[in-house]
Amino acid sequence: MRTERGSFVADHVVLACSLATVRRMTITPSMPVPLHAAVHGLGYGTITKTSVQWPHRQWPPGYATTAGRAQRVYEPTMDQPGESGILMAYCGGDGGHQWATMPEPERIALAAAEMTAMHGLALQPLGGYSRAWGAEPRFGGSYAVYEPGQVTAFWQPLREAWGRVHLAGEHVATCTGYMEGALESGETVATRIVAAG
Ligand SMILES: Cc1cc2nc3c(=O)[nH]c(=O)nc-3n(C[C@H](O)[C@H](O)[C@H](O)COP(=O)(O)OP(=O)(O)OC[C@H]3O[C@@H](n4cnc5c(N)ncnc54)[C@H](O)[C@@H]3O)c2cc1C
Repeated sequence: MRTERGSFVADHVVLACSLATVRRMTITPSMPVPLHAAVHGLGYGTITKTSVQWPHRQWPPGYATTAGRAQRVYEPTMDQPGESGILMAYCGGDGGHQWATMPEPERIALAAAEMTAMHGLALQPLGGYSRAWGAEPRFGGSYAVYEPGQVTAFWQPLREAWGRVHLAGEHVATCTGYMEGALESGETVATRIVAAG
């Protein structure tokens, strides 16, 4: 196995990363057709999260939704002391995809404008931070989203060892898209490797 940091000889290889990364690997011999189709075809979510910090909390407690592009807005600092607070826009689907194409400052300005309109804020934001997983080369999306037809076509090939190469991560868990699934997949692969001796 050759990486940017050197060459390694190993009994097994565990690819515990998003399929977006696996798609860029040069793998010889070629993967079996069903596995190749699954690795390259599996859907990924488009969540973009944009947080904006405000000097005062001029909004009611709770979760808010809007027909605007911010989609879902909540306060992750709800339980924290202090005068300032943060509102978070959690944006997915086509909206998340669209926000991922924008530069970060533009996303923050857009989210701040929508939060201002939603809650009637008479404040200037202190700052913000936005992350679009769909635009991150190491992630390629927020988490696996099996699209129609992909459970029957891709589920099994992604969960079987290919010789001594194993996939791990939330995308091959029993319950995909969650931390628990990522850990479960690691245990599954470790058990498989130990059993192989
Ligand atoms: C917006 C959002 C909200 C979420 N909310 C929740 C939640 O509330 N509860 C929950 O349980 N889960 C949630 N998740 C999902 C959870 O974050 C994932 O299921 C979990 O992180 C997946 O773990 P993983 O180990 O499969 O992959 P990752 O956490 O993606 O780990 C893979 C690692 O591989 C590294 N990597 C990739 N390419 C390379 C390379 N070429 N070389 C070296 N390293 C590489 C990456 O940097 C990364 O550290 C959320 C995810 C997102 C995006």
